[in-house]
Amino acid sequence: MQVSLEQVFNIVGKEENFNYSFVPDYSLSDDFALSSPIKFVGNVKNTAGIVTLNGQADFSANVICSRCAEEFLKHFSVAVEHTLVSELQNEESEDFYLVEGKQLDLDALICEDIILSLPFVFLCKEDCRGICPQCGKNLNNGECGCKKCVDPRMSALLELLDD
Ligand SMILES: [Zn+2]
Ligand SMILES: [Zn+2]
Repeated sequence: MQVSLEQVFNIVGKEENFNYSFVPDYSLSDDFALSSPIKFVGNVKNTAGIVTLNGQADFSANVICSRCAEEFLKHFSVAVEHTLVSELQNEESEDFYLVEGKQLDLDALICEDIILSLPFVFLCKEDCRGICPQCGKNLNNGECGCKKCVDPRMSALLELLDD
């Protein structure tokens, strides 16, 4: 969604609300596939000359568990919060999001925030047991019967305790 922020930048107290959904035309990550549109609810407002964008993006995606490689559906909620500027005063631009020509590509900004918020590791559940390194069985579905490798440091300790 292209948003003209001409009025919001120019008029103190001006506010605009958003409640819409969109589907990006490119993939956000190799690690998951969107299974719903991205829904954004938020607003942009001019408070005493400072323009802020606040909102939340919600969507679902099919994700591959980093531990057991099973696909699962995960819901994401990502906060989208920025101070918007129509021009940069200096090079310290990290805290500000530059809106060139006062025209904001809101979808692109939301997608940027989503990509930055994604974890490096997706787990189907907190205590996912992963797959057996020997036979490849998904251990969430039960033990596989392979002999457990004992950490050599641990077996040395056990031998000491035996004495
Ligand atoms: Zn898993
Ligand atoms: Zn096994």
